[in-house]
Amino acid sequence: MKISYLLAPLICVIVLAGCGRNTADSAEFSKAVFAMDTEMTLKAYGANSESAVNAAEREINRLDRLFDRGRDGSDINKVNAEGTAKVSSDTSALTETALDVCEATDGAFDITIAPVMDLWGFYTGEYQVPDDDELAKAMAKVDRAKVNVDGEVVSVKDGAKLDLGGIAKGYLSARIMEIFRENGVESGIVSLGGNVQALGLKPDGSKWRVAIQDPRETDMFIGSVSISDKAVITSGGYQRYFEDGGNIYHHIIDPSTGYPAESGLSSVSIISEDGATADGLSTALFVMGLDKGSDFWRAHNGFDVIFVTGDGEIYVTDGLSGVFESERKYTVIKR
Ligand code: AMP
Ligand code: MG
Repeated sequence: MKISYLLAPLICVIVLAGCGRNTADSAEFSKAVFAMDTEMTLKAYGANSESAVNAAEREINRLDRLFDRGRDGSDINKVNAEGTAKVSSDTSALTETALDVCEATDGAFDITIAPVMDLWGFYTGEYQVPDDDELAKAMAKVDRAKVNVDGEVVSVKDGAKLDLGGIAKGYLSARIMEIFRENGVESGIVSLGGNVQALGLKPDGSKWRVAIQDPRETDMFIGSVSISDKAVITSGGYQRYFEDGGNIYHHIIDPSTGYPAESGLSSVSIISEDGATADGLSTALFVMGLDKGSDFWRAHNGFDVIFVTGDGEIYVTDGLSGVFESERKYTVIKR
């Protein structure tokens, strides 16, 4: 079978530039870092901006070494290889947060999706549409109930394996906000492959404007949100995919089928103060689709959502009124 891999377009939710005052307090330091297979940009303002960004870079590399399941000796690699391992407090905390999202979304988000991701080749880059028997075997190992966190010991059973790829970047952006604060920074922003989290306001006192990428024309934007102290995290089928026999297969798997989710959406952006949960929810609501995702939002607090359907329609939850701006037509989802 010949597989052709389409170069996935860069996931770029661009942070719209604004002009800050050029005072000592607004001294900017920024840096590009490559980790977790992702281009990251870190930017901080103020007297301590350089040391804060450098500390954040060290934290990124430390967490990448813990969470990367493909890296020998990482926490997740040990859990997957040995079934149980004593891990760092970050890994146990992230696994617990991830399990909460699994539970709340009734398994639309499932961190035991690893064997299915592997079978499709999303982890190795050797893409293939799996045969039914192999997929059934891998699917038998997918079950969030096979994961247990006891203090700093994380265990999996019956061949289950963890993949934190749907939530790790949100945990990381939230950690960077903490590192910025601990280093005396009050204003800063990070973009981890297009997933943005902002600390405070811009140095000129205005909010950060974060553009939301158009899933169909990835060098265009469907609109922007104005935020402070929030994460804006997007999941989209356009971010990583391959083509086979005229079909497109993307990297967000519906744990009820083992196939890339076909929920009618092309992207979901979550806007929330809680970066890790926002990341888990972006993946989960992409799997759920517009109707279930809207109901989920109605039943929960602490976040807002922008849905873009496969037809390019935009739906925005009503907490974003005055926050989301667009020249396109869009529908507001009410509680
Ligand atoms: P995101 O870009 O945050 O939507 O995360 C996508 C990544 O999450 C994939 O590359 C997989 O590593 C992982 N993943 C895919 N499908 C699921 C799922 N249903 N639940 C949890 N993680 C998933
Ligand atoms: Mg996610």
